[in-house]
Amino acid sequence: MTPIGHIGAGVVGALLLDTFVFHRPPTTETLSLAVGFSLLPDLDAPVVAALRGNWPLRRRNDHHTSFSHTPLFYLVMALMLAPFVTPRGVVFFLSLTLLHLALDSWATDDGIMWLWPHTDTQYALLPVPLRDEKVYGWRYYRYYYFQVRQRAAWAEMGLAAMGLGVILIVVLLSPGSFW
Ligand SMILES: [Zn+2]
Repeated sequence: MTPIGHIGAGVVGALLLDTFVFHRPPTTETLSLAVGFSLLPDLDAPVVAALRGNWPLRRRNDHHTSFSHTPLFYLVMALMLAPFVTPRGVVFFLSLTLLHLALDSWATDDGIMWLWPHTDTQYALLPVPLRDEKVYGWRYYRYYYFQVRQRAAWAEMGLAAMGLGVILIVVLLSPGSFW
């Protein structure tokens, strides 16, 4: 999944958490946090590439094979955060980072290591054919949106549109809104 899908899903996820779990209206701060948490797991991309001698990119960045893209990693991080933030903060952190991982294993050719460290096997929901090692960086986005994965890309744009809708509604309804 690409960043626009992650952001859209994260914002919709935050709306659902606040509405159905915490019974409070989402605020613009909540949505900003949701955007951050939904993109957080991908911060490992440049680090993993550099550590594996692949920066600047010369081949596909295989950061889905790093421990930093596993549920166990985010579970441990959530436990470490727990003494310092509110329960709502922990739930948001864990739910939105796990949602990121779930989306990374959807319509992908590699998936993520759901059962690490028990096994390094990567699991993909709706797996698609393996792509060429040379498809990386901007070439990957072209490949993703205009070639083999058009259906997944449409679903992703739907997520992004829903996220944008939620952001607009929350901003317009927020007290003291300029608009
Ligand atoms: Zn990711």
